[in-house]
Amino acid sequence: MENIKNKIEELKKSENAVILAHYYVDSQVQEIADFVGDSYYLAKIAKESDAEILVFCGVEFMGESAKILNPSKTVLMPDSSADCPMAHMATVEKVLEMKEKYNDLAVVCYINSSAELKTVSTVCVTSSNAEKIVEALPNKNIFFIPDKNLGGYIAQSSSKNIILNDGFCPIHNEITPECINKIKSKHPGAEVLMHPECPENTLRLANYIGSTSGIIDYASKSSAHEFIVVTENGVLFELKSKCPGKKFYFPEPVPVCADMKKITLEKVYNCLKNKTGKVELDEETMKAALIPLNRMLELAK
Ligand code: SF4
Repeated sequence: MENIKNKIEELKKSENAVILAHYYVDSQVQEIADFVGDSYYLAKIAKESDAEILVFCGVEFMGESAKILNPSKTVLMPDSSADCPMAHMATVEKVLEMKEKYNDLAVVCYINSSAELKTVSTVCVTSSNAEKIVEALPNKNIFFIPDKNLGGYIAQSSSKNIILNDGFCPIHNEITPECINKIKSKHPGAEVLMHPECPENTLRLANYIGSTSGIIDYASKSSAHEFIVVTENGVLFELKSKCPGKKFYFPEPVPVCADMKKITLEKVYNCLKNKTGKVELDEETMKAALIPLNRMLELAK
């Protein structure tokens, strides 16, 4: 194990590469990454980095966003088959149909979406900045794609007319109120921290709702010592390192994203060594998808 870590370190230096990893990937991969974070943080890093090669340990839409924000850089994905099912749960046809139907429509696109969907969107958002960006838009009518759960959560406190699309994260959408009540009965004193990709009836049982970064931040500042964490279990690595001595529990079945877990140290090493898994997008797509991504970075400041 140490051997492969050392080899990755050497390659990073010789190839002028940096490794970006999402909180949901395996802890061993998070350990060797230069930057670990949620989608918003990683998009910002991708834009600001001056390395020649970005190795993106995550799913397809993350590598695509890094490439769109950094067209002159080489972006490598350790496993090109790692994809987010939700990223494809809206269609360009549906977006165009909604634009026809509503005057003054802004298409707000959760960053967990394909590059193609971004080309027809007004602005991208992540779970850490969606509320702020939706409110900052001048439009009254908002078509929120692809996640109905995050869109529904934002709609609860928004002054806008938010139209939902029928997409969801298969991992978070499966978490029921029964799962939460079961784990709460075992740990009645624990605070319940949830990701807004969970369904609405589940979110009602949360003490705190926020992005993965928000959850980590909340747990580290809270005076509580026990937490039920309702998001993908890769986040445990950062929670443990930021909150030594605190206890974390997950609902059953433990939420695990099989696509995020496809990324291994061996695959990171191989893609960096052989320059495989290059993210390639046509120029037209990159140009059109850059607009909503840049608008997000601007409005989220
Ligand atoms: S956890 Fe859900 S939203 Fe995140 S990458 Fe996996 S399937 Fe997609």
